[in-house]
Amino acid sequence: MFSKEIIVLVLIFFLSVNSLPQQDSIKRFIAVTFDDLPMNTKYLEDGSQWIEQTEKIISAIKKFNIPAIGFVNEYKLYVNDVLDSSRLKALQLWVDADLELGNHTYSHPDYHNTENETFFADIIKGEKIIKELLSQKNKKLHYFRHPFLHTGNSLEKKIALQDFLSEHNYTIAPVTIDNGEWIYARAYENAYNKNDLELMKQIGNEYVGYMIDKTNYFENQSVKLFGREINQILLVHANMINADCFDELAEALMQRNYSFISLKEALTDTAYQSEDTFTGRGGISWLHRWGYSRKVDKSFYAGEPEVPKSIMDFAGVESE
Ligand SMILES: [Zn+2]
Repeated sequence: MFSKEIIVLVLIFFLSVNSLPQQDSIKRFIAVTFDDLPMNTKYLEDGSQWIEQTEKIISAIKKFNIPAIGFVNEYKLYVNDVLDSSRLKALQLWVDADLELGNHTYSHPDYHNTENETFFADIIKGEKIIKELLSQKNKKLHYFRHPFLHTGNSLEKKIALQDFLSEHNYTIAPVTIDNGEWIYARAYENAYNKNDLELMKQIGNEYVGYMIDKTNYFENQSVKLFGREINQILLVHANMINADCFDELAEALMQRNYSFISLKEALTDTAYQSEDTFTGRGGISWLHRWGYSRKVDKSFYAGEPEVPKSIMDFAGVESE
């Protein structure tokens, strides 16, 4: 004998199960890329702190079994022109953890303001130690990430760099989930410098929420452009906010049904063969570069989440 109430409850249960949005059953894939290794930091100079921060980042990466890749600026390994053993140790930790490394140039120049030959020389200069470290694991250097995601502000410059990279057996590492993480990172480190733990916590929480909003936005951009969700590539940096908060971000991505894949796997998605003729100045998502190349309507770009003014103010950043 069922009471009316129980029947109603059972009905509500079945209705809610059947009306779960289909999105929840989607399987999603994402590669995670960390830039500016060994560390992007304003206030931490001591190599032992770099080791400590790196250990935290790698422990989060390992917790979620993420086949992450780190893009290195070798100039950061030197203090007053002398190779710093602690900073080198921080980089060694990535290799010891069986993670991939890529080249992000030696000194992080802006290609749009740099002569081609100078920029190319900086790429070669930036592969010396990475190659040695990778060889410890019988690995080769394959990937290049553009500083500021600046790929060339004229077609001539863009093609010159593409040619140089392919002649040197580099694969370009695109980014689809581009974001203002670096602004949160600055705000976070400023709060650290003022020893304001409350503020650090608040910025950290807002950071994870913002990154998920961005992820959601680029999932939709992918559907608009390709009619499906492509393998995404996320850009974050080796910095203090990720040492403390990346594991929450990884957890939130898993909640969205993401499986973590390598950059190599991500690039097997045919979307990455799309034409890219973008020559604007901005370091924008590849999804938007492909949109630009297809000459999509301006309305395509609408609705991108922005970094709130409060975070910009904490970071001391004028505009994104
Ligand atoms: Zn960078």
